[in-house]
Amino acid sequence: MTRQAASSVVVRVPGKINLQLSVGPKEADGFHGVVTVFQAISIYDDVTVTKREPGTGFLIEILGDHTHGVPADDTNLAARAARLICHKYELGDDLGIQIRKTIPVAGGMAGGSADAAATIVAIDALFALGLTREEMQKIGSLLGSDVPFMLSGGTAVGRGRGDEVTAALSRGAYHWVLAVSSVGLSTPSVYGECDRLRAGMQIATPHVSDQLLQSLLAADAVTLGKSLVNDLQPAACSLRPALRLILDVGQEYGALGSIVSGSGPTVAFLVSDEEHGLDLAVALTSSGVVGSVVRASGPVHGAKVIEVH
Ligand code: ATP
Repeated sequence: MTRQAASSVVVRVPGKINLQLSVGPKEADGFHGVVTVFQAISIYDDVTVTKREPGTGFLIEILGDHTHGVPADDTNLAARAARLICHKYELGDDLGIQIRKTIPVAGGMAGGSADAAATIVAIDALFALGLTREEMQKIGSLLGSDVPFMLSGGTAVGRGRGDEVTAALSRGAYHWVLAVSSVGLSTPSVYGECDRLRAGMQIATPHVSDQLLQSLLAADAVTLGKSLVNDLQPAACSLRPALRLILDVGQEYGALGSIVSGSGPTVAFLVSDEEHGLDLAVALTSSGVVGSVVRASGPVHGAKVIEVH
């Protein structure tokens, strides 16, 4: 039996939270070295890449309830990924990309990077390129520092700009409640505010937290909750003071730990189990200080083909 070539591939890709995000001093090129521990969690975008009639060119479509600010043109990170890989492997540009967004936009959960990772995986499958994980990660790191992690998912330590990823051992499942804001925060402006708040301070080279890695190894959610750390949190709270109120509500309702995810404004609360998650979700919703509340768990796998047509 001959196998028909695929005409369309759907890839599901998760969002991430940073369990640790330690930011080093600003470097000469304006960027910061970071040490981060990522966890991929169960909030997903679905990216469909479809072959189009020759000569019809490139088409991008964004679907979902909260897609404000997501560009439906060549500046979309998924489109940039497609252009890059199609050029590199001479695949032409007659492609459709449809992104069904659930990952909060500009929420510190790497939604754009996730869509880029999904596009790389989809094109690899669509054209049977047979790329290795390393080859995909190399292409991904040209697009954004979070893309390599979104390809692998799970739990990982990121160094450099966050793009030098090594898998971390993690046992058990962790339950999260996320407070999602309807208006995002721009990552460059959060780093800018971080620099402003740190002006004149000596900033040490960051290291991964042993306590955090040990807690993941031991499936110890209580210690993990105490180990969560994000150097961008003061900057995100300075730009968006309401985040402090949200963090306080979580604390009050017994979250094991609370943290602004990445550059924010999503706030992630670690809870002991699903029931605790439900209680906290109700408390956050009725507090009136939160846009919307989503429950998720992690770690989950990275970008993965879920349908081939
Ligand atoms: P970062 O990865 O920089 O921390 P983030 O996770 O906070 O960003 P994203 O959802 O990736 O936020 O969006 C950041 C910006 O990237 C958006 O405001 C939008 O202008 C642009 N963007 C480009 N492509 C995408 C995409 N596929 N999905 C969402 N945003 C995108």
